[in-house]
Amino acid sequence: MAHTAALNTLKALLATISDLRAAKSVLSWDQQTYMPTGGIGTRANQMGTLSRLVHERSTSAELRSLLDQLDGQLDPETDDGALVRIARRDLEHATKLSADLVERMSHTTAMVDAVWVQARLTGDWPLFAPHLRAIVELQREIAEQYGYTTHPFDALINVDEPGTTKAQIEQMYAELKVGTLPLMKAIGQQQGEDRTRPLHGRFDEARQEQFGMEVIKRFGFDWHRGRQDRAVHPFCTNFSMNDVRLTTRFDPTWLAPAMFGTMHEAGHGMYEQGVAQHFTRSPLAAGCSMGLHESQSRLWENLVGRSRPFWEYFYAPLQNLFPEQLQAVDLDTFYRAINSVQPSFIRVEADELTYNLHTLLRFEVELGLLEGTLAVEDVPAVWNAKVAEYLGITPPNDTLGALQDVHWSAGLFAYFPTYTIGNVLAVQFFDAAVAASPAIPEQIRQGEFGTLHGWLNENIYQHGRKYDPNDLVLRASGRPMETAPYINYLKTKYGQLYKL
Ligand code: ZN
Repeated sequence: MAHTAALNTLKALLATISDLRAAKSVLSWDQQTYMPTGGIGTRANQMGTLSRLVHERSTSAELRSLLDQLDGQLDPETDDGALVRIARRDLEHATKLSADLVERMSHTTAMVDAVWVQARLTGDWPLFAPHLRAIVELQREIAEQYGYTTHPFDALINVDEPGTTKAQIEQMYAELKVGTLPLMKAIGQQQGEDRTRPLHGRFDEARQEQFGMEVIKRFGFDWHRGRQDRAVHPFCTNFSMNDVRLTTRFDPTWLAPAMFGTMHEAGHGMYEQGVAQHFTRSPLAAGCSMGLHESQSRLWENLVGRSRPFWEYFYAPLQNLFPEQLQAVDLDTFYRAINSVQPSFIRVEADELTYNLHTLLRFEVELGLLEGTLAVEDVPAVWNAKVAEYLGITPPNDTLGALQDVHWSAGLFAYFPTYTIGNVLAVQFFDAAVAASPAIPEQIRQGEFGTLHGWLNENIYQHGRKYDPNDLVLRASGRPMETAPYINYLKTKYGQLYKL
């Protein structure tokens, strides 16, 4: 069969691209963890060289010709069929944008980053505004070159969430608004005491680290195929499914960030560790989409790590590590502390319930910018009005408002909704796992996670990028993405916590 030779050549080419990408990831990981500051200049050149090599190979005429030869030759249900489909999609993505546009985008974002840092520091929106206007213009051009039928947002979100549309996102947020705003308002009326007090104090860093490592080992994170280091902005990366790098950051005066951050990044890490071994060095060896990836970090962090059954097992060991700080704090008080709802200005510090309102307002602002119905200079006013409407508070300045996130200055549009997709899917998958194995909550109460981890491996992790996100959600949970389980989860959990 002629296509066997073409397929083998294709696999070899894709393996080389995968190796180059992994090498680039190692350099990037090193830059964010161990590299001395003096290394930055040469490192930028090294990264640039690898990026160029990746780009040349991923857009080569040879690759296109191989994919053309294989077009329609393979059963799309097989792994090889999926490989050809995903390789084709990656090729189209890499080649649709003109070289000139890619160059202007990278040049603009490189310049804007420093301006954004300065603007955020001083809350100076007028300083940032002209640069954001340039980026919005570029985003419109990008959407045009990718192509879309109804809205430029569709073209942009398709990069991270293949097959997802603006209409789907709007539907998701409309349902979340109806389902969670009344809950928020009812909780807001009870504010007064600070429930988070037990989490603040002196918490020895080494003990925090020990606890986090023990917890994620119990989750099923494989320490023979992964490690954890420190970084200013925690992240997870990997060089294969057998080499996963978590990073974390400790605050010696606040217990929550490293503890839940470790569980969060471990969720990303276990997803990558679970990808089928035979996908190694191929474009199938990665998570399915940003939203799917985030569903796994949030599932382990929130559905497991912030649940009462989890702490019925793990609270005593934590008290033993921090007797002075926690001996007098009972389990209920601790559980309330880690699930405190508090409208706040900063997205990354938001609790489970208010979080989606932060991403929603960014989504609405982005639509206005892309459609041209919202002028860049009016963003802070619109932003603040939305924070007041959704959260009942008003940012005192733009540092705590429209300037807080790095995404827009980095050219990341249509990105924020993927966080909320992750929240919604986390509950949908957890419910599906419990429906298949009703003993899971009781097992969590015993500190056992094997059944849950096994279900996720079987239904999600092992498939890597083989299926499109909507398809994978349907296969794993038996239903398309839906908000009802998530809203139900929030109502039940916070209804109990706030006695509503
Ligand atoms: Zn994440």
